[in-house]
Amino acid sequence: MKLTFYGGAGVVTGVNYGLEAAVDGGKKVKILVDCGLQQGGNFAEKKNFEPFPYDPAAVDFVLITHAHIDHIGLLPKLFKAGFRGKIFSTHPTHDFAELMLLDSEHILYREAERVGKDPLYSASDIAAMMKFWEGVNYHQIVDLGGVKAEFYNAGHILGSAFIRVTAEGKTVVFSGDLGNYPAPIIKTTEKIPPTDYCLIESTYGDRVHENVDTRREELEDAIEETAKSKGTLLIPAFAMERTQQLLFELNELTENGRIPKVQVYIDSPLAIHLTEIYKKYRGQFTDEVEAMIKGGDDILDFPGLHFTLTTEESKTINEAPTPKVVIAGSGMSHGGRILHHERRYLSDPKSMILFVGYQGKGSLGRQILEGAREVKIMGETVPVRARVRVISGYSAHADQPRLLDWIRPVRMGLKKVFVVQGEDGASEALAIKIKDELAIHAEIPEANDEVEL
Ligand code: ZN
Repeated sequence: MKLTFYGGAGVVTGVNYGLEAAVDGGKKVKILVDCGLQQGGNFAEKKNFEPFPYDPAAVDFVLITHAHIDHIGLLPKLFKAGFRGKIFSTHPTHDFAELMLLDSEHILYREAERVGKDPLYSASDIAAMMKFWEGVNYHQIVDLGGVKAEFYNAGHILGSAFIRVTAEGKTVVFSGDLGNYPAPIIKTTEKIPPTDYCLIESTYGDRVHENVDTRREELEDAIEETAKSKGTLLIPAFAMERTQQLLFELNELTENGRIPKVQVYIDSPLAIHLTEIYKKYRGQFTDEVEAMIKGGDDILDFPGLHFTLTTEESKTINEAPTPKVVIAGSGMSHGGRILHHERRYLSDPKSMILFVGYQGKGSLGRQILEGAREVKIMGETVPVRARVRVISGYSAHADQPRLLDWIRPVRMGLKKVFVVQGEDGASEALAIKIKDELAIHAEIPEANDEVEL
């Protein structure tokens, strides 16, 4: 069985692995796991516009771990380049993916213009590709022409999975992105089954997260301070999962009277549509959340919450009296409505920008987070006078202790761990721990490395 690290090696994003396995009759089955967009300073890095390092038409199957764009963003391009095999993911991932891809298509169109390239794909490529996509349940054994795959709950976002692939009498687990348990809404990350090989993500391979209680208190503090200074609290947030987590916690804080009355705006059409999908999959939430819903609480809605879907509705936020809270995408300020709010409020010392998610190297969010005195937004130089705050406990990614705990139970049978999807320092820190504490052979592959399993 041959494993190739096309993307996600040495970087967090652009996840794309190739697996080639022999099946009965001597045939080879070619599988990809994830086919994501490489992101960094820009929504799409230049690399995305290069041809695939393999023949898309020769790929038989694609397995998708979850619907984040750095795991699915190049699927329509793969389809456009000749892929006609089958795509498998969980049902929520299937539903989310179409919305996520359509949303990105607008941004990608502009990115293509910027780098002087043709757009990666169009909305009609997405629609055509979705016909080849089949939703499966967790633990349903999926047959890939003689190779077997099983999806397990990764607890990262709704529908997220880690996947165990069995071929040639060996097993390999692709972690996808692993959740930061306990997650407030969705069920927690499942135990890893016994496996010969494992690819483990390392976004936060060198960090220890704050606990959930601190996180909620910090959100409470940020809102109280904003209410006192009569400013605007900007929260750039990923439309999926992070926005719903914030809604869930704001729902609790509001209904328990722990924060002053402020108007909260969800200013992201994508987030609004994704929140609707959450209502369809309520069986996948924690017991506590299911009980709250049964008790009549709409966990993602509360008094003072406004969903501003249209541009006109969005514009009313500017005139709305302070204090107010604006939650908008994109999560790293690559584009989206958050840019309009940042341009307007970053120079206001009464306001605050609160980061609740990973900020990629070079992104506008990362510049602000690292203390830039002024930033460029839509061609305009904007001084940063608003307070800058960060809550790392919101991460949807497991931190170092959680990653180690996840892999520990299967350490005896593991032949090798590949540490992927991290920046250099994070992957190295995790690899060292895996070797030292768990006595497992761990290596950090480089882009396009090939290994025989
Ligand atoms: Zn993810």
